[in-house]
Formats: sequence, structure tokens, C-alpha cells
Amino acid sequence: MSGTAMRFAIPNKGRLEAPTARLLQQAGFRYERSERSLAVPVLDRNIELLFVRADDICELVTDGVADLGVTGLDLVAESGAEIEVLADLGYGHCRLAAAVPNASPVESVADFEGLRVATSHPNTTARFFADKGVTVRTIPLRGSVEVAPKLDIADAVVDLISSGSTMRLNGLRPVIDVIESQAALVRPQGAEEITEVDQAVTMITSVVAARRKKYVLMNAPVSAVADIRALIPGFDAPSIVPLADPTMVAIHSVVDAGSIWDVIPRLKTAGASGILVLPIEQLLL
Ligand code: AMP
Repeated sequence: MSGTAMRFAIPNKGRLEAPTARLLQQAGFRYERSERSLAVPVLDRNIELLFVRADDICELVTDGVADLGVTGLDLVAESGAEIEVLADLGYGHCRLAAAVPNASPVESVADFEGLRVATSHPNTTARFFADKGVTVRTIPLRGSVEVAPKLDIADAVVDLISSGSTMRLNGLRPVIDVIESQAALVRPQGAEEITEVDQAVTMITSVVAARRKKYVLMNAPVSAVADIRALIPGFDAPSIVPLADPTMVAIHSVVDAGSIWDVIPRLKTAGASGILVLPIEQLLL
């Protein structure tokens, strides 16, 4: 290995930390993170991981300090920076929503006219209401946005929701979604080609693609093959392998993970037996 290491910024704490570490491990990044270390080399690769706050990652990527990063799409939108989103990563799903106290008469976006809106995403909030022709006063807060109406420092909030339970707990009612978010792989806009970046992106996106699929194997009578094929269109034709019994075949296919619950019982009904559903480590199309 030679030259400057490719620097890859990932969240050091918070909601995106653990799922990002799992993704990198599955993608084959081997590293030993010691407590509080900021920069950690990836073993056998010319890559250095920078463990930083999710909300600092856009800035590090735009400044060229990091060549690649993982952060939330909401933070990319908020930074307004020149950042290229390379891939959605399938975790950290949430939405930025405008909400009001349960007792508020607000029902639609137009009803926000003139309100004070507390948010940790002031740029996105201002853009959203301006696009709708609604004037609001944004109250930027770094945390605990949901308590702002109780403290009477705001009439409404624009905050991140995943299950909605924190909002409910604080007596807030979502009125309209501002943006949807999930974790994403990002790099500087117009960045030069860097081999290590391309390799890392390929390894990571192949894991994300694999998580959306399952490998399904089954045995079936030859007479059932047409029915079974119709049930598993998949992205590729299934492999059909002869067995010692000439009336039977083995069928191998890749199936959308989200359809497994529906497809498996129908495969059984169609005559399949010995059905195995296996995870896929990495998938490159
Ligand atoms: P942290 O504040 O470090 O936990 O990370 C915040 C990031 O996690 C946000 O910018 C979102 O991209 C993501 N996230 C996912 N679900 C939620 C949620 N329910 N509340 C806040 N952030 C969330």
C-alpha cells in the first residue's frame, strides 16, 4: 500500500452508528476501533475510517476532508452542500414532519402561516414553507425540539419521526411530511475517481442489494415447474437442476426478501418441497 489513504467518514454515535458498523463489517471492512479514536485504519486496505458526528459528515465531505461518507439524507438536505448521493443504504428510515400540539386547530400546511416553528432542520423547514407560499418563523434548536411548544417557545415543530411514539408522548400531532430520509452513501460533488472509493462503494452497495434478496432452493415435480416459475419471476431465470429421480428437479432462485412471506406458502401449494431460504452476503448484478 502507498499514498494517502482514502478517508471514509462514518457516524461515531447515535442511531446510525451501529447499523453502519454492521454494514461495513458485512462488506468486508476489517478494523479495530479503540475507545475515542477518531481515525482508524482498515486492515489491508488503503482506507482510513473517520469516526465523527453524523451531522458533521456533510461538511467533512464538502471540504474534501473525507472522500466518502455515510450520513442521513435529512442532513444532506439540511446542509444544502454540493454532495453526491451515491446510494441509499436501507436503514435509518425516518421522515421530517411538521407537527402541532394535539389541541391546535392547524389542519393543513396553509394553517402554519405566521406560526413559530421549532426545528433542528431550519434550512429545510424554511425552504419547505417558502415553496408552499407560507411564511413561518423558524426557531432553530439543536435538540429536544418536541418540547418547544410546551415551553411556549414555538407553536409547531418540524422534527424527525420514525415510529411516531416520541411525538405522541409529547402530545404532538403530525400534519404534513417535509422529507423522507434514510442513511446514504455520499461523496463530494464532481470528485475525481479514486480506486479505493470505487471499491468501497461496490462492496457496500453489493451488501445493500443482497439484503433485499433471499436465495431460495426447493425440490419440485417436473410437472410443477411452470407453476413455480410463474411464482418466482425474480431478476433472473431460476436454475433448474435434474435430480436422481427423473420426475423431480431442484429449483434455485433469488427472490425479493419482502415477498418471501407471500411466495413460500404458494410454492408449497404449487408442489415444492424441501424449501430452503438462505441469506445472500453480497450481490453484484
Ligand atoms: P443521531 O442524532 O446521531 O442519533 O443521528 C441522527 C440521524 O439519524 C438523523 O439525522 C436521521 O438521519 C437518523 N434517524 C433515523 N431515525 C431517526 C429518528 N426517529 N429520530 C432522529 N433521527 C433519526
